[in-house]
Parts: sequence; C-alpha cells; structure tokens
Amino acid sequence: MPSAFSHAFAAVALGKTYTGERMSWRFWVLAAGSAAMPDFDVISFRFGIPYESMLGHRGLTHSLLFAVFWALLAMFWEFKYIAPFSKRWWGLLAFFFMATASHGVLDAFTDGGEGVGFFVPFNATRYFFPWTPIEVSPIGVGGFFSHRGWVVMKSEFLYVWLPFAGLWLAAWIWRRMVWARLKPQQN
Ligand SMILES: [Zn+2]
Repeated sequence: MPSAFSHAFAAVALGKTYTGERMSWRFWVLAAGSAAMPDFDVISFRFGIPYESMLGHRGLTHSLLFAVFWALLAMFWEFKYIAPFSKRWWGLLAFFFMATASHGVLDAFTDGGEGVGFFVPFNATRYFFPWTPIEVSPIGVGGFFSHRGWVVMKSEFLYVWLPFAGLWLAAWIWRRMVWARLKPQQN
C-alpha cells in the first residue's frame, strides 16, 4: 500500500474535483475512510490466509466489485435522504466508487508485494500496471520510521500527492476561472 494518508489524500482531491459544493465533514471523513479502508485486509495475515488468496491482502477488499458494494453501502447508510437513482444519487455513488477503487489503482502502481485482485471474486489474478514508480510501503507502522520509510514517503509525495494536488488545483481553477465565466449570469 501507499500509506493510509496518501490514499486518504487522493480521495479528498477526487472529492474536490467531483464537487465545488460545501460538503459536510462526514462526507470528507467517509471519502478519506473509503480510500484507506481496503488495507484492513492485512488482518488476513493474522489468520494465516496467504497473500495471494482471494481473501488475502490486496484481494477482495481491493476489488472493483467491493468498491461497488462499499459505494452502495455508503449511499444507503449515509445518504439515505437522497432519492435513490436520482441524478445526485448516481453522482455520489460514482464518487464513492472512485474513492474506494482509487486504493487498488494506486496499489497497482507500487513496486512490491502481490498485485491487486481487481476482478476478485471472479478471477484471482493479481495485477500491476506496467509502470510501478511508487515504492511499496512496509506493512505495519514499525517499518515506517526507518530509512525505507523515508524512501517510501518521497515516492508517495512525488507520485501520489503531487499529481492529486495538481488535479485538485486544476478543478479549482476550472470552477473559478472558466466555468464561472461560461455560465450565463442570472439576473
Ligand atoms: Zn492496499
């Protein structure tokens, strides 16, 4: 995994791209949490489940199906006041799917461990992208405060924080400078 903070930051930047509206703090916590949560599967090591198993680390909770399931759960649990299948409902569903799926996508850019089981439970194959610039983060907190931790932080800054901050900035500029002018003035 890139560290939980990097996953959370990516989701917040996606949220800022998705909407210029003021959203509740619960929205942001849920967005950040959705992106960090798939790594709870490291608990599988405790139960002796092998890494490459569908239920192992980077398996089921990193799959696209899980992201759909989690996004639906978010809609019916946190946003139940929004009319199901309305335009706003679909928009939020798509956002929470993206926030959750962004986790596996970022993991597939890392240079270590097993790949990501995007198609679990239908297919157990683990995938990496052809380009894997992100240094894989040590599992557990201990390894983080080491030389290796520093190397990981640098690569996450370069390949996660920087591009997602760029996305956030681009969305901000678009809304402030371009969209605001294109929109017909209402008098
Ligand atoms: Zn992960």
